[in-house]
Amino acid sequence: MKKSLFFMAFLSLFTITAQDSILIKSKVANAIVELRDFVSIPNDALNPDDIDSNLFWLRKKFTERGFNTSILETDGLPLFFAALPVDDNKPTILFYMHLDGQSVDPAKWDQKNPYDVVLKSKDGDGWKTESFSELNDDINYDWRLFGRSTSDDKGPIVMFLNAIDILRKENIDIPYNVKVILDSEEEKSSAPLPQAVRTYKDLLKADFLVINDGPVHVSGKPTIIYGCRGITTLSITTYGPLNPQHSGHYGNYAPNPGFQLAQLLATLKDSDGRVLIKGYYDGITLDDATLEILKSVPDNEEEINTNLAISTPEKVGSFYQESLQYPSLNIRGLGSGWIGDKARTIVPATATAELDLRLVPESDGDRLKSLVKEHIKKQGYYIMETVPTKEERMQHDKIVTITEGSVTDAFRTDLANPFGNFIVNTMEDKFGEKPVQIRIMGGTVPISPFINELKIPAFIVPMVNPDNNQHSPNENLKIGQIAYGIQLFHALLRTPQ
Ligand SMILES: [Zn+2]
Repeated sequence: MKKSLFFMAFLSLFTITAQDSILIKSKVANAIVELRDFVSIPNDALNPDDIDSNLFWLRKKFTERGFNTSILETDGLPLFFAALPVDDNKPTILFYMHLDGQSVDPAKWDQKNPYDVVLKSKDGDGWKTESFSELNDDINYDWRLFGRSTSDDKGPIVMFLNAIDILRKENIDIPYNVKVILDSEEEKSSAPLPQAVRTYKDLLKADFLVINDGPVHVSGKPTIIYGCRGITTLSITTYGPLNPQHSGHYGNYAPNPGFQLAQLLATLKDSDGRVLIKGYYDGITLDDATLEILKSVPDNEEEINTNLAISTPEKVGSFYQESLQYPSLNIRGLGSGWIGDKARTIVPATATAELDLRLVPESDGDRLKSLVKEHIKKQGYYIMETVPTKEERMQHDKIVTITEGSVTDAFRTDLANPFGNFIVNTMEDKFGEKPVQIRIMGGTVPISPFINELKIPAFIVPMVNPDNNQHSPNENLKIGQIAYGIQLFHALLRTPQ
């Protein structure tokens, strides 16, 4: 008796799963058709005409699925907005994705037209072109679609649309208000977005933001990201003789700007890579719960070190994820005189270091820049914002020009945020394991000012494979990721928070 009950339960579970997977496969097939169509419309953000045709396509596809759509005019290119009818008793999710893509150089692609999607299977270390007709019987989730924006970021838009189809078919009352904002200028820094938040305040009003852009963790596992670092820059120039001088005539006599700069830079950090300026890391504390989540990220540090060919990492943090929780101070470029075949026997006139400072929410960019400047002043330097005149050079032994770049703030949503917990739990239920939780990613996304302006919890939920060649020739999307994205959007939109 018990046995047969168990068997029946097993059977019905199996039937549901099997039906589920047939439905998902049919939606994956449909998504492939739609993605080929969408990708065939070029979307170079540098070409506004391209964007219009994409908006037209989107308007049709979202309207078909019951969305109200509008084109939001901005100082730059228009944004696309879509929403399902609003019910004031439900919480609101705002999804952010982008429709523009990086420019293409067809000569560097292994296909004629980067906007004409090509299907490929793995063939040793390379790829073999497959016919789309081969896909009809059984979709191979390891095969890939090659084309511009298949992954970044048209793929996720199409996954979203197909998840909506399933919800409509199931006749589910979605427990959320669903709003979608699609950016037309992500690849050229999303400049109009922060102002758009002010202009379209009511339209964009939401309880939380889900950003579907970028790849999942390198392990390929389901991933949620709670923030990303900001950035600012500094340029530092030291001065020697007014013009480069013969090193025979003036070596030992004219002060050398390269040595000055090297000595100055050496005071900024210890040999383990930690910034020596007092207060640089102020305000950052990592409690045990946070450390546990940082440690749970399945990074393979041996592999990272091998890929980078480094023997020992710096010690700002004791492991990779921990190191990203702090602001960085990086020399991104260094120059004086000439090098290599062009090296000359001179005392150079100037030496310049370009610095970038990656920021975390605890570290205000303007504050860090002034800490660096104060530190330089303490080393006896006279600081200027412009190039010194001859008179000024003669007045000061140690003179430096510092120019500052603008600040893009970091953003980070609390790891314990209830909307974040909802996303994590939904992913765990759906895929049978806890997703990789990234507290803050090292890079900077152009939509940080948009997120900070919205002032709502924000989560990056990537949908695409880590090896998708984003921004490069041969951008691709693994078909299995389409199934993943459809399932995840579907689960998020049918699970009450
Ligand atoms: Zn993107």
